[in-house]
Amino acid sequence: MPTFAEELDKLREEGLYRSMRVISGAQGSHVELEGRRVLMLCSNNYLGLADHQALRSAAVMGVAFGVGSGASRLVSGTMELHARLEERIARFKGTERALVFNSGYAANTGIISALVGRGDAIFSDKLNHASIVDGALLSRANFHRFGHRDVAALERLLEEKGGSGRRLIVTDGVFSMDGDIAPLKEMARLARRYDALLMVDDAHGTGVLGATGRGTAELLGVMDDIDIHMGTLGKGLGSFGAYAAASETICDYLVNKARSFIFSTSMPPAVLAPSIAALDLVDSAEGKGLRDRLAANVALFKERLAGAGFDTMGSETQIVPIFVGPADATMRFSQELLEEGIFLQGIRPPTVPAGSCRLRCTIMATHEAADLEAAADTIAHVGKKLGVI
Ligand code: PMP
Repeated sequence: MPTFAEELDKLREEGLYRSMRVISGAQGSHVELEGRRVLMLCSNNYLGLADHQALRSAAVMGVAFGVGSGASRLVSGTMELHARLEERIARFKGTERALVFNSGYAANTGIISALVGRGDAIFSDKLNHASIVDGALLSRANFHRFGHRDVAALERLLEEKGGSGRRLIVTDGVFSMDGDIAPLKEMARLARRYDALLMVDDAHGTGVLGATGRGTAELLGVMDDIDIHMGTLGKGLGSFGAYAAASETICDYLVNKARSFIFSTSMPPAVLAPSIAALDLVDSAEGKGLRDRLAANVALFKERLAGAGFDTMGSETQIVPIFVGPADATMRFSQELLEEGIFLQGIRPPTVPAGSCRLRCTIMATHEAADLEAAADTIAHVGKKLGVI
């Protein structure tokens, strides 16, 4: 049996060893990284809200309710701000009710393992987030994966493997490492036809996509066709945590059955209040301005990358991958960009399939156009030098 140290050495040899970089100061379009100011090109802080004054002030207001929440939700950890945030999310998503979870990871594992179990069936896109996969494994339901965005393959599976138990179709709204969008309209049609529940993880669409920032389902006109809207509060919304928005019955069921909801100390007030402020901001004229600016930044950056000859892997959103392939070349690319003042992490297995390593650029509303243009030119320069283009 290899020792832990030997396994770590093997990861190093394969170019798959990971470590963390420390940022000083706040998250923003530029950050201070190991003593240098660099352009941030790999944060999910899409609207720049993580350091927005309105969220900072809300966090301070939240502290008026103390720091810790003291207990899990069902014991004594449900505070007024939990109730207010959940009402606000339900209003935002147009559902009967919403529940907050301590993270997107906790939400997906908790929701999926509560809704289905032994003898039931889950139908999941191959590129769904790891937390969906872990929730599916935890549930002990039969787990069927279909090809990425392949609605015909999903239909075949529903026909052949539907079984007599509950059926759950689950998909990312925006795929986190590819930046493309799930065919929700067609999936909703199949969910109805095959009597399945449809759950959408909109971690990367929430606050960002759709005319009013309601997410991927709004963009595709299917807000009322999703049974469980899952989303996160720590990406576009700049705060922390996650939610499920659904019918009264499903939420009530989750309160009683979702283990990550039941058996964990609830989120603290200073994290809940900024989430409410973020939703108010998304609904304001400022929020609309941020979404417009983000869309303009994305268009500009993509055009520049395409002009340089990069493969952006079918991205349809603010997540813009640059395909590289091998792990070592990807990490060399990332390192050279850092030396040029651009923080852009390489993404390797197990986050993405082997041989499809990439630089995952994430565009923010608060990026300056000139900075994005200069960054795209630097990426092209380094990409040429390394033989990526
Ligand atoms: N779902 C998706 C699609 C994600 O990309 C992520 C975060 N990487 C999560 C869920 C987990 O959310 P959180 O970071 O809040 O745990």
